[in-house]
Amino acid sequence: MAAKLIKGTEVSKRIREEITREVAELKEKHGVTPGLATILVGDDPGSKVYVGQKEKACHSLGIYSERKDLPADTSEGDLLDLVKQFNKDEKIHGILVQLPLPEHIDATRVIYAIEPDKDVDCFHPVNVGKLMIGTGRFLPCTPHGIMELLRRSDIATEGKHVVVIGRSNIVGKPVANLMLQPPPGGNATVTLCHTGTRDLGTYASMADILIVAVGRPKTITADMVKEGVVVIDVGVNRIGKTDDGKAILAGDVDFESVQEKAAAITPVPGGVGPMTITMLMKNTVEAAKPS
Ligand code: NAP
Repeated sequence: MAAKLIKGTEVSKRIREEITREVAELKEKHGVTPGLATILVGDDPGSKVYVGQKEKACHSLGIYSERKDLPADTSEGDLLDLVKQFNKDEKIHGILVQLPLPEHIDATRVIYAIEPDKDVDCFHPVNVGKLMIGTGRFLPCTPHGIMELLRRSDIATEGKHVVVIGRSNIVGKPVANLMLQPPPGGNATVTLCHTGTRDLGTYASMADILIVAVGRPKTITADMVKEGVVVIDVGVNRIGKTDDGKAILAGDVDFESVQEKAAAITPVPGGVGPMTITMLMKNTVEAAKPS
């Protein structure tokens, strides 16, 4: 039987309605309008699209947005100065530097320069550390989006065996961390796999919930999963173009075959993707709340 679809588009819409109410309440009760600054260096087309989507989301939710597009040859010093300016700017509660940055700029140095209380991406080591000990004010957007997708789809993580494939700092490691936190965290038993894992299929097939973030289409096939698994496919792979030039997207999971065995699965597009920007907006509102 085909799996239930976990629709990020719908869940994200509901969360955005909640955010709109929170923004209105912040304005009314505290006279505060949440503000997000986005910085784009260079003209990578994918990054431009992402920054545009973030700006649009701000506008639709009543969040103040300030966007700085800098040329590709911007020096690291100039970028750091701009970050410091936003750190001091009272209209701005969240700062987002779109990655990747051009090679001559040290991304780590730039992330470290963001004031942790304005680090709405949750990449600063202070926030990563807080996430690990379970005291974070912000949670990283994609992993937080995954937790909310499951929670709002009534899929319990408590006591489940969650297998995460991929150990990136953006997705794999933080989602594994959120899953192993005691309640209200995931309270799951977690296995984290990567390219050094021997016999990936053995681990994948033990998953009650399988989270795949590798960036390679069809890494997970039906023979690697058990009946009734819940599959969260984080991958976004451009596998071709339509006749009118639009990118054809695929996840990391062989959707057609895996959905026959899974109890529930996220589609690509329309699964995890829509949640990421929504959780960024949520963090921006969180950052604007008086502490
Ligand atoms: P990444 O930094 O490239 O990390 C990929 C991870 O997957 C690495 O840890 C790598 O292992 C592991 N891996 C790759 N091939 C593997 C294999 N065959 N078996 C086991 N492990 C394997 O990627 P990322 O930033 O986490 O992103 C992953 C995917 O998610 C991409 O398609 C990206 O576009 C997508 N993504 C989507 C969203 C969204 O909002 N929907 C957000 C972020 C990312 P090693 O560490 O050993 O190299």
